[in-house]
Amino acid sequence: MDNQKLAELLFPHITKTPEDYEAMYPQRDLPAGAKVTRLGPSPTGFIHLGNLYGAFVDERLAHQSGGKFFLRIEDTDDKRFVEGAVEIIINSLRFFGIQFDEGATMDGDLGAYGDYTQSHRGEIYQCFAKKLVSEGKAYPCFLTEEEIAAIRTEQEATKQNPGIYGKWARSRGLSLSEIETKLAAGQPYVVRLKSDGDLSLPEEQIRRIKVQDAIRGELDMPENDQDTVILKATGIPTYHFAHVVDDHLMRTTHVVRGAEWLPSLPIHIELFEKLGWQPPVYCHTAQLMKLDEEGNKRKLSKRKDPELSLDYYRNQGYHPAAVREYLLTILNSNFEEWRIANPDADIEEFPFTTEKMSTSGALFDLNKLNDISKDVLLRISASDLFDFLKAWSEEFRPELSHIFDDRAYLEKILDIGRHEERNPRKDHIYAQQMVENISYFFDDMFQIEDEFPAEAASDAPAILKAYLDSYDHSDDQSQWFDKIRQIGTELGYAAKPKDFKKNPDQYKGHVGHVSTVIRIALMGRQQSPDVWEIQQILGEERTRARIGKFL
Ligand code: GLU
Repeated sequence: MDNQKLAELLFPHITKTPEDYEAMYPQRDLPAGAKVTRLGPSPTGFIHLGNLYGAFVDERLAHQSGGKFFLRIEDTDDKRFVEGAVEIIINSLRFFGIQFDEGATMDGDLGAYGDYTQSHRGEIYQCFAKKLVSEGKAYPCFLTEEEIAAIRTEQEATKQNPGIYGKWARSRGLSLSEIETKLAAGQPYVVRLKSDGDLSLPEEQIRRIKVQDAIRGELDMPENDQDTVILKATGIPTYHFAHVVDDHLMRTTHVVRGAEWLPSLPIHIELFEKLGWQPPVYCHTAQLMKLDEEGNKRKLSKRKDPELSLDYYRNQGYHPAAVREYLLTILNSNFEEWRIANPDADIEEFPFTTEKMSTSGALFDLNKLNDISKDVLLRISASDLFDFLKAWSEEFRPELSHIFDDRAYLEKILDIGRHEERNPRKDHIYAQQMVENISYFFDDMFQIEDEFPAEAASDAPAILKAYLDSYDHSDDQSQWFDKIRQIGTELGYAAKPKDFKKNPDQYKGHVGHVSTVIRIALMGRQQSPDVWEIQQILGEERTRARIGKFL
């Protein structure tokens, strides 16, 4: 077989050579040890926590080492392509603070190693497929879908490994003139790798590949024996081929990707070998897991777990700093310890390493995220929280725009109890929850949610009338509470809870029941921050109006 001739026959339009591309994309001029990483999301319209988790690893590895991190759009699977998905990817990653140095952007490509969208790189893949064909390392395969299905049925019946390899790779034996005839007849074909692997040998003779994974240590797997498709009938590459060609030409040093790619690693290693290239360092991250209701660990699922989608966090209004902080706790086992020792440090200062990453499955836990978020939001000023909430509301809850009319009012609300030295309030978790939490400060959202305590319900009008009559907005906290105590005592309530406990028959209830009546009239809820402080923020007019409603 004249492979050179075959290559020309298949790819007459490819005039550039591999050397041309090597020259177009030279080795990067970076300091020793600098890492080059990339994120390669597929534009399916769904961007998930796994993407962000991987993006963090990429970003840290590159930026901690003075390297580069780029975004590549992996859109070779046209069946899954969704309009607008690239925008979603770019915007979501930007929202969560992922900074790319180059790659696809909303305003076109940035950087000298593009094009950064795989569907625009057809000629590049074809050039390298041509090279493999010309060296007898790849070949056109004319098997039809029916023939492949029949092969699978036969393999299943005879309990042999599935796939196109060895004797099943029937197009391997075609002569040049047979191929010419098929091409002339317009028969569709794919280009397959001509694998040198052989898994039919006795176990001890099977060649194994050994790869040093930066997260998992040494991987030891049987070599590839599949004649994997590298170019589809449309001339578009498969993931396998695009990965190898792109990560070589873009000079990626570290490939961070999900553990679901581990089984195809031997294919990639063989492709790198056949192309004469050095593979990158692989970093196969653990799957994201969660504990289900029964306490069993299972993979996060797109169907069952809305929290897998990054949209979930944006809709709910999680602050990106909280999500970042949380992701680092599941990325590196020593992060929490570091945070305790460095409570105010920027997370960029944390020395991230792949060695400290879990290999068995990273456990994702919304409750834990919420706890971390409380701490993270405590470190954010009321003014920044205001801006964050406003931006969130503009996008997701435009009907709330009025709560941003009075900046000083909302900032005071957001700041309640946050500056206590010993026990600062940690009420805020995410925007949706914060808005519910503070809704009673706004007349249109204010509603009575709880009932008056049974001990004082029948006296509620009397309590509230006395309260309003004696109300003086300039009272300090202790003058204010003395008045409540007095109102209670006059109506038959103990001035102290412990007096009521001792002699329950002598009283209707205690001062706490009286103040709860006032709290519910003002806030609609049994639980709230300090009533006096809230009144100071509500202002005299609103305070009087709310009490007055009950009379
Ligand atoms: N497009 C691939 C995916 O979305 C990327 C895998 C990789 O990073 O190599 O899973």
